[in-house]
Amino acid sequence: MKNSGLVLVGTPIGNLDDISLRASNELKTADAICCEDTRRTGKLLAHLQCEPRPPLIIVNEHTEKEQCNSIISKIKDGKRLVMVTDAGMPAISDPGEFIVRQVAEAGLPIEVIPGPSAGITALVGSGISPRRYLFEGFLPRKGAGRSKRLQDISNSPHTIIIYESPRRISKTLNDLAQYLGESRRAAIARELTKIHEEYIRGTLGELVQALSAKELRGEMVIILEGASKQQEVTSEEILSALNDGKKQGMSTRDAVREVAAVTGASKRKVYELYLSSARN
Ligand code: SAM
Repeated sequence: MKNSGLVLVGTPIGNLDDISLRASNELKTADAICCEDTRRTGKLLAHLQCEPRPPLIIVNEHTEKEQCNSIISKIKDGKRLVMVTDAGMPAISDPGEFIVRQVAEAGLPIEVIPGPSAGITALVGSGISPRRYLFEGFLPRKGAGRSKRLQDISNSPHTIIIYESPRRISKTLNDLAQYLGESRRAAIARELTKIHEEYIRGTLGELVQALSAKELRGEMVIILEGASKQQEVTSEEILSALNDGKKQGMSTRDAVREVAAVTGASKRKVYELYLSSARN
C-alpha cells in the first residue's frame, strides 16, 4: 500500500532512457499525474508502456495556483499525486515551487524522485569548476532588472549557470561579454543527452564570435567561470592604461576596447570609469 502525498519526479531532458526505475514505478502507480503538457508527458508514459494511464492534471505556470487547493484536498483524501514538468526537475525554472510550499505548509508529505536537470548536467561537462556555483536560471529579459542581474553576476566569484533560448543566446552572450569582460571563460552546453549534444567552450569574446558565424539551435545552458581575483584590476590602473592609449592617438572607443581586452575588465566598467574621470 502506497503512502499518500505529493511526489515530485525528475524526468529526462531529452533522452527518454534517462528515466529512472523509481520514477517509472511512481508514474505507473500514481493516483494522478500533474504535468505541464499532456502530449509531452503522454509520450513519456507511452515510452514506459504505462497502461492504464493515470489521470493527467494540467499544472503549468498559468494553472499552478488555481490547481493547488484541489491537489491538497486529493492528498488529504489519501491520494498519491505525482508531479512532473516537461523536462528535468520540477520547480527548477519550472512549475512546482508554489505547490511544494503550500503542501508543506499544510503539513502533508512530500517526496522527491531525483532525475536529470539541465543546469547540473551542463555544469559537470563544462570544464568550469563545479565546486561552488550559482544557479541563475533565465535572466530577466530587459530593463533595469536585467542590468542589475548582469552586474551582480559580473561580481560573483562562483561559477554561474544560466538557461537561455536559441532566439536570445546571441544577445545574452553579447551582454555577458559587455558586463563580465570578453576574457571570462564560458561554455555553452547544447542539446544535452540528445543526438546533437555539443559543448562550445572558450572565452566570452570567442563565443560571441563563434555565434556570429553560426546559428545555434535547440536547448542550451550557459556556464560562466566566476570572477577571479586576477581579473580585479584597480580603477587607477584602468585609467592610467586609458590615458596611455589616448596619448598614443587612439579614439576613446578603441582605447576602451583595448584596455578592456588587456585588463579583463568589462568594456562597460572601463567606459564608466572614463566618463567619471572626464567629469572630474
Ligand atoms: N526543469 C528543467 C531542469 O531541471 O533543467 C529546466 C526547465 S526550463 C523551462 C528549460 C531550459 O532548460 C531550456 O530553455 C534550456 O535552457 C535548459 N534545457 C532543458 N533541456 C536541455 C537540454 N537537453 N540541453 C540543454 N539545455 C536544456
